[in-house]
Amino acid sequence: MDIANPSEEHMMLREMVRDWTQEHVEPQAFEHDKHERFNLELLRSMGELGLLGISAQEEYGGAGLDATACAIVHEELSASDPGFALAYLAHSMLFVNNLAYNGTEAQKSRILPKVCSGEWIGAMAMSEPDAGTDVLGLSTSAVQQDDGTWRINGRKMWITNGCLDDAGTPADVVWVYAKTGTDERGRVQMSTFLVEAGMPGYSVGQKIFDKTGMRASNTAELVFDDCIVPAENIVGAPGESLIHMMGNLELERLTLAAMALGIARRSLEEMNRYATERSAFKSQIRDFGQMQRYIGESWAKYRSMRAYVYDTANNLTIGTAGQRLDSDGVKLFTTTAAKEIADAAMQVMGGYGYVAEYHVERLWRDAKLLEIGGGTLESHQKNITRDLFKDPDAITR
Ligand SMILES: Cc1cc2nc3c(=O)[nH]c(=O)nc-3n(C[C@H](O)[C@H](O)[C@H](O)COP(=O)(O)OP(=O)(O)OC[C@H]3O[C@@H](n4cnc5c(N)ncnc54)[C@H](O)[C@@H]3O)c2cc1C
Repeated sequence: MDIANPSEEHMMLREMVRDWTQEHVEPQAFEHDKHERFNLELLRSMGELGLLGISAQEEYGGAGLDATACAIVHEELSASDPGFALAYLAHSMLFVNNLAYNGTEAQKSRILPKVCSGEWIGAMAMSEPDAGTDVLGLSTSAVQQDDGTWRINGRKMWITNGCLDDAGTPADVVWVYAKTGTDERGRVQMSTFLVEAGMPGYSVGQKIFDKTGMRASNTAELVFDDCIVPAENIVGAPGESLIHMMGNLELERLTLAAMALGIARRSLEEMNRYATERSAFKSQIRDFGQMQRYIGESWAKYRSMRAYVYDTANNLTIGTAGQRLDSDGVKLFTTTAAKEIADAAMQVMGGYGYVAEYHVERLWRDAKLLEIGGGTLESHQKNITRDLFKDPDAITR
């Protein structure tokens, strides 16, 4: 059995996405990274392929596919353009999947067809200028008014797809976490709101330029200044955010790990080809033991990454929380491995590896973000250690 393509449908999906990526994503990757430009039209066009709502239910315009399918698409896109893949992830996993599994019937039937087709582009806003890993340390607040509407105040930071262009056009719809009070034990009560473009008080503070990597995706600061959101745009009951956040984070971490796998695969391909083409001292450089160490170790790491990504994917049921040990574990392992493999590729390729034209320079920069976004390495270490305390039998199961 091929763990990465467990069914005929998965194999066909992979081939379709790989061909499409080769034709449409690969040719634009270099320029969009260079100019820090997000390819909005290319992302929208993925609606025609049925990929923007990959995990959303078919009755709302989604494809209704599983976590393995999600991992396949992220791996394939990221092997060509991780920045573009990150924008896809923010839309399809952080917004669309969240809404598909946690929204009300009315919210799903009104918004899902638009985000599945690409008419609307979505984002998810959890992080703030002063609170990232410490999610409950957020200060963005929402207060319900006498007429039932909610008034949101605060700032969100580092939001992928937060703006759609350099002029600061905001995302069409954002999944926003805000504090709505404290419970009887003094714990922060967090709630989720659907904020749509045109709602008063919602704007882009700034597009964040000069990122190390992922430059083909837009990252923005969002401002909510007495932003008024209708009563029907709260998701679930006040205080219910942690439930959806936890379930969705597992799929986010799996697909970020799949992106790491794509980076690793491409880096390995590039270094393997180069090691044959390049000669020094009258030998192919692949004959040198030190080069063999880079290639051999990268292969072994890549194969381990692939097994862990697809083992986690095959066991992850979208919409239910409970696989945190492996969604944290797979992201912890694969993101650093991807960075190391991209680094090995750059070393094998010498000076050519250090310039953008040969791809791995971009992959090397992009890989670093995966150790930070969607949870830092340290947060995964913390979660795994905590979960193994609660469930030590997980080790021998
Ligand atoms: C390009 C990019 C895109 C992003 N996209 C999004 C997005 O779409 N939506 C969104 O909401 N966010 C997004 N983020 C934010 C990202 O998720 C956060 O950067 C990340 O969660 C870390 O938060 P922080 O940057 O505030 O760092 P902090 O949480 O302040 O962490 C700083 C350091 O302290 C460490 N640390 C913190 N707490 C602990 C602890 N308890 N134990 C040990 N070490 C600890 C961290 O591991 C880290 O090394 C994005 C970030 C980037 C750079």
